[in-house]
This record gives sequence, structure tokens and C-alpha cells, in this order.
Amino acid sequence: MGYDPQALGARCDQCILAVLREGQPVPPETRNAEAALVAEAPGEQEVRHGRPLVGPAGMKLDHALRDNGMGRNDFDLFHALACRPPRNTMKLVRSKLAAENRERDTRGWPRLPDPVDACRPRLLRELAHVRPGRPHTRVVTTGKEAYRALVPPPLDEDGKRAKHPSIVKLNGTLYHGPLVADDGKAPSDWQVQLVPTVHPSYVLHKPSFTMPFYRALDRARRWWTGQLGWKEPEVTLNPPLSALTSWVAWARSQPVLYYDTETTNLEPTWADLKTIQIGTG
Ligand code: SF4
Repeated sequence: MGYDPQALGARCDQCILAVLREGQPVPPETRNAEAALVAEAPGEQEVRHGRPLVGPAGMKLDHALRDNGMGRNDFDLFHALACRPPRNTMKLVRSKLAAENRERDTRGWPRLPDPVDACRPRLLRELAHVRPGRPHTRVVTTGKEAYRALVPPPLDEDGKRAKHPSIVKLNGTLYHGPLVADDGKAPSDWQVQLVPTVHPSYVLHKPSFTMPFYRALDRARRWWTGQLGWKEPEVTLNPPLSALTSWVAWARSQPVLYYDTETTNLEPTWADLKTIQIGTG
């Protein structure tokens, strides 16, 4: 029998993608791996082959994983949305959903949920049950829909649920906390170590994001294997000259120094320098 997301908890009877989708839903690809990778939604190649992350985006992902000492076999692969949105974009889907819900409001009918919310129960169930007795606790999400499908929205100053930051801002950050519950709002009691990054197809369109994408995957690997070695930095505002002089002496005595910079723009000719980070080997 074919893949049936509805039997796994997807609310397809209320999901606008059940009407708009291109091709059949794509099942996860599982191999009892130590970590899970959750992508946004299948594209043309994924629907054609009935597998997640194949085609150019899959090749980009494979390359990035290989470059960081990992491989596709280290991950069980899932989609936040099991169905392919038309033209691979949720923009059109959400504008049709808004129009449909306006119409439903005038008729007094219940509104349809966002497809990410409709498909979340299926995704959570797959993540929980793919390894019997060992729900996934190490997760990489690629793309904003995948992050949104799994992480509870942050609270604003008034204690209300706010929007998630953009995926470019979240890229490579470390989320150690609960997965969201089926309702997409409340945190569940399922703790994960999750690293968000962009979808590999974003990197194909924007090659300047290749390094941040690779680095996010590297951070995930190092975090999970205890090699990140992160210590909260000590902050010294307006350090006196003597402190700077002794810091330079210390830096010169180090065998290896790494540096990274943070700028206001990825285009070097337009960018202002915000910070320089320096680390030892
Ligand atoms: S995206 Fe998920 S909930 Fe929506 S139709 Fe596809 S399988 Fe069903």
C-alpha cells in the first residue's frame, strides 16, 4: 500500500494542499539513523522519485554533509510538508488559503489551518516512531517551514506567542529545548538538540550562503559529539590600554588563531564591519 499521511495523523481533509499539491505525498527515508534531518517540502525531483532530498538540492546537501565528515546515511530524512506546493513555493498556497478563509468567514464555516499545522501531527508521529522506543532527539531543520513545524514560537514581552526570526538569522544557532506540541503553540515534553539552517535549494540560488550552510551542519555535528567546546565569553566594555596590550601578548603566544567577522551585508563592498570574533585552535 502507498504512503498515507492521513493514517499517520495528517489533517489532509482540512489542508488546502490536498487540492493544490503537485503529485503524490512523499514518504520519509529512514534507516534507524542517529539524527533526523527535516526539510520543508518535496520538489519536482522528490515527487518523481518518491524520496526526500534528491536532485540538485539533494546533491548540494550530500556535498555539504561529506565536507563535514558526515553522510546522508547518518540521517533519517523527513519533510515538514509531505506534499509539493505548486511551483515549490508556499506564497501562492497561503494567498489561496487566505482567500478561502475569507470566504469561509462570510459563510460562518470553520477556517482551514495552515498546511504546516495540518501536517505537523504526521511529522511528529514519524519522528517519534521511526526508531522504536527512541524518538529522535538530534535534529537539523532546513528551511523556515521545517523550523516552524517543530519549534514552539518564541514569547514576546507581553508573554504572547511571537513570530520566529528569519531562517537566515537562525542559521547555525543551537536550540536545546522542547519540540512544539501538535497544536503548533505549546511546548511538548520532548527535548531535542536542534540546529536550523536554510534549505539546500536556497544555497543553489544564493551561492554566497554556501559557507554559512556548511558551517551550520558542522556546528550540529560538533555539538552532538561534544566538540563544540563553547564557553560563554567574558565581556569587557571599553578595555583599558593595559588590558588590550596583555590580550595582544596572549594572542601572539597562541600557535593557531581563527577569526570570523560579522558584517551588515554579505556584499563586501557595501558591508560595514560589526564584530570580529577570534578563537584559538
Ligand atoms: S501537506 Fe500534509 S496535511 Fe496537507 S495534504 Fe499533504 S499530507 Fe495532507
